[in-house]
Amino acid sequence: MEKILVLLHTAADGGLPPAALETLGVAQSLGAAWDLAVLGANAAAAAQSISSGAGKTLAVEGDAFSQSRYSTDAAAAAALIQASGAQIVLAPGTMRFNRALPGVAARLNGAADTHIVAVDPSLNVHRWFYRQRMEGTLTRSTRPWVLLIEPGSNPAATTAAGAPAELLSVPVETRTQVTGFQSPAADQQTIRPGASLLFVAGAGWTKKQKDGATHTGEAGEIILGFVQKTQSSLGSSKSLVDLSGEGQAVLPFLTHLHQVGQTGSTPRHRKGLATCCHGEEPHVVGWRFINERRAINLDPACGWSRGKADVLYVADAFEVMRALAPLL
Ligand SMILES: Cc1cc2nc3c(=O)[nH]c(=O)nc-3n(C[C@H](O)[C@H](O)[C@H](O)COP(=O)(O)OP(=O)(O)OC[C@H]3O[C@@H](n4cnc5c(N)ncnc54)[C@H](O)[C@@H]3O)c2cc1C
Repeated sequence: MEKILVLLHTAADGGLPPAALETLGVAQSLGAAWDLAVLGANAAAAAQSISSGAGKTLAVEGDAFSQSRYSTDAAAAAALIQASGAQIVLAPGTMRFNRALPGVAARLNGAADTHIVAVDPSLNVHRWFYRQRMEGTLTRSTRPWVLLIEPGSNPAATTAAGAPAELLSVPVETRTQVTGFQSPAADQQTIRPGASLLFVAGAGWTKKQKDGATHTGEAGEIILGFVQKTQSSLGSSKSLVDLSGEGQAVLPFLTHLHQVGQTGSTPRHRKGLATCCHGEEPHVVGWRFINERRAINLDPACGWSRGKADVLYVADAFEVMRALAPLL
């Protein structure tokens, strides 16, 4: 099989993100010779920490490369690919690389494919199409071929330190200055792709309850309290996020980015708990990669009861969650 380059980047803290080790795991599973290249802050040390088994170990680091920026990332990646000479490049499909590497492939007269979930030794690659409803297999003869591996779709490699990295010097000129990050406080961040549990809130949380009144304020406290205590990721049905457009009392922390389903996202988590959500097909199709599914719904005939959940609790979600809180 052709030699592979495992091309990675470090995070701002100089460590390797989980997706990097998953990409290395894919390369190791193919049984081919592989080089390792890392760019970003602390790249040389990060590369050496996992370079056991690599042919060449290469790195690009320095102030210009410590921030994610198209021009510098593309220059560094192109230099690393050329220095390795490998024609098959496996890289994690992170935001940073999804932005930079397709352009790098074009500069090198190669090709790039994104959202790859599996690669076999004959270089047939698998990816999802049509909002993850069809899985396709393809291969290409164009080289170099850059494959961006979907985070969360492969197990992480077992790694060991090895040879030190050869540092490449890449001249760059950029007019873009990164002045810092603006991101919500950690306790406001409710979409956590790495969490083992997805907690989904449906429109039922804002509907009239058995006392004839709505309890949206309490619903918000219950949902946020649970998500923060368990560090789970928060998802929503479309109906609940749409309500804000209809002028109803809604949960202010939910946006369309939380929406799971046919027109929403298809997150990957080990477990999922749906609450006050009916479990209709256009929503449940977004649960494709949730392995163990449970739901709480007042209605024993809801969608979850029809083979869509492993366990359905026919119960009042307010009562269940109120009882659950002290146990956490
Ligand atoms: C083309 C198309 C694309 C779509 N894409 C998406 C999508 O991407 N994502 C998506 O979510 N939907 C999508 N939908 C909409 C989808 O069909 C449903 O309308 C939507 O998912 C319903 O949301 P829901 O279950 O939160 O609300 P509802 O259907 O209103 O269900 C609320 C549920 O809450 C329960 N409930 C109420 N109070 C309680 C309580 N105290 N305890 C427990 N349970 C309670 C009720 O029994 C009910 O089952 C799409 C539809 C179409 C046509």
